[in-house]
Amino acid sequence: MPVTGFLIRHIQWPLMERLKENRTRHYFRELQQAQEISREQLRERQSQRLGQLLSHAVRKVPAYASYASEWEHRSITPERFLQRMPVLTKTHFRLHADEYLPEGMNAAKLIGNRTGGSTGEPTRFYLDRPAVERYEAARWLGLSWHGIRIGDPCVMIWGSPLELNQQQATKYRWKERWLKNRLLLSAYELDERRLETHLTLIQRFRPAYLYGYASALSTLAEMMLSRGWTVGVPLKGVVSTAESLHEHQRQKIEEAFQAPVINEYGARDGGIIAYQCPEGRMHAFSENCFLEVVDPITNLPLYPGESGVLLVTDLHNTVMPRLRYQLGDMVALSADSCSCGISYPLLAAIDGREDDMFISQSGQYVHGHYFNHIVRNLESFRTFQIIQHEPQRLSLKLVKEPGRFRSADEDRLLTGIRTALGEVSVQVAYVDQIAPTGSGKFRYAIRECPLTTAQPLE
Ligand SMILES: [Zn+2]
Repeated sequence: MPVTGFLIRHIQWPLMERLKENRTRHYFRELQQAQEISREQLRERQSQRLGQLLSHAVRKVPAYASYASEWEHRSITPERFLQRMPVLTKTHFRLHADEYLPEGMNAAKLIGNRTGGSTGEPTRFYLDRPAVERYEAARWLGLSWHGIRIGDPCVMIWGSPLELNQQQATKYRWKERWLKNRLLLSAYELDERRLETHLTLIQRFRPAYLYGYASALSTLAEMMLSRGWTVGVPLKGVVSTAESLHEHQRQKIEEAFQAPVINEYGARDGGIIAYQCPEGRMHAFSENCFLEVVDPITNLPLYPGESGVLLVTDLHNTVMPRLRYQLGDMVALSADSCSCGISYPLLAAIDGREDDMFISQSGQYVHGHYFNHIVRNLESFRTFQIIQHEPQRLSLKLVKEPGRFRSADEDRLLTGIRTALGEVSVQVAYVDQIAPTGSGKFRYAIRECPLTTAQPLE
């Protein structure tokens, strides 16, 4: 649909800028210019922005007011000062959200948002238009690294907007289709019966790229490959977002769609944090956010290359500043520079959610990928889900691979689990399928108990 893309770029966006004072393209150009400057200059700009945010937070935001005098008399950099402040957990923020609104702020004028609540209670928070537009700009910049432009046609494979009624849903789809050039396919409706219809829709729409959850994209890819089908439309890329992308998923998606997978790293309550470049590395938008990685128990900072808990400070959210916000992901930073020429700093790894991290009987952390790796090496199971309810008590759901199931594989899997976690009790159940969470995401490994309840190392 080249006409729609042209109209969006040359008519709709300039109009939005004129009438609604939308500044996304302005922020896009700012971010684009910044990717050319030196790493040192980027760091200085980031430090300056962090200083402005801290100044604002300690003066205006009740939650940070107790730091005001210390801030006035500081002799250290904003980065060091930030390290002295507490880590902000989602639970603390949810219970004390009002304290993070600056004095005199009228919340009615802000943009309310909340996390999907796929794990526990949803978190509610506020943003303003400029903050949202900066996230959008970061996404467009990341996409531009792969030749994707504003207004290019996109097929989104997404959770249905379930909260909408029929009339709202029709309006939503219309807006998506004609104002954003996006065709929405529901992640809930991906099944064998509808596969052909979905593919026909994609082929008629001729998208420049696909966008969706890693699990939804790879499920679709798997179904296509099992029938020997490919998409038949030249794509610039397939953007995977909102979940950790496993290597086996990446391979299947690339094979079925015959296009590179582009990993987007972001969160509703964290913005667009990093994007994969054409060299396959993740660049963090240091103009928009300040990232720290700390030890999950001690909260002490970790060195580049070491995986720990990610803390995000959104540098532009002045209407509800959240300093050192613990997003819930395990990440490693990197001190390397990238051969693609983009100056934005790199993430060495995104290891998935903290909730995917299990705790062994001896107090070691075991990442959910570990179980995934074992299951992938056994032919008996199509998919699985493992839940650690308490350090000693787990449950395991298994979906058999028809015609390939051998009961000895269950023993092998249990041995693998106990090798990593110790003598734990595992309740095994065979099921026909494993449903995604309420927001349409799929999770292999879920820990329900806190990381700290395990016995300490002796
Ligand atoms: Zn790069």
